[in-house]
Amino acid sequence: MEDPTLDLDTVRRELLRARDALTAEMGALTLVIRDPDATIGFGKRVGEGTTEAITRIERVGAANALQSKLADVERALVKVDEGTYGICDRCSRMIPVARLEARPSSVLCAPCSAAR
Ligand SMILES: [Zn+2]
Repeated sequence: MEDPTLDLDTVRRELLRARDALTAEMGALTLVIRDPDATIGFGKRVGEGTTEAITRIERVGAANALQSKLADVERALVKVDEGTYGICDRCSRMIPVARLEARPSSVLCAPCSAAR
């Protein structure tokens, strides 16, 4: 089931790097969510804190998006170890190499990913 054009060592390195980057991003974002005034407060109140609340919601949304990206990366790493990397988690078909190269953390084929 191994595709000769896909180098799993390279994939693993890329996934680990992506995981580090996402973890760092999450850490920074979580810090801001917990203590918004630490970095984004400018000491002035706009409206009744409405814009700040919106920013907060946006950040939580961004954190959720990061969390789901991170989950994919973690799952892809497990798949590399299991020997199931490149196989769709939902329909068990092979994920095209081009898709994996474009997005190494892909754990679903395009149709399944779109259906998610
Ligand atoms: Zn699929």
